[in-house]
Amino acid sequence: MKGMEVMVYCCKEHVELALDVIVDEYEKAPVLEEVKEEGNLSTSCEYCQNRAVYIVGN
Ligand SMILES: [Zn+2]
Repeated sequence: MKGMEVMVYCCKEHVELALDVIVDEYEKAPVLEEVKEEGNLSTSCEYCQNRAVYIVGN
């Protein structure tokens, strides 16, 4: 996670959308990480109300 300039939280349904957005906007290969259960329970998806399960960054 170190060095990321952008981090987008997203659910399973929107992970591909988030990856596309990162690639389009930053023209860099995105980094995909799973959200750790502990400490992130209230983090919701960038694109809907579901709980985020992935973080997409660059
Ligand atoms: Zn979503």
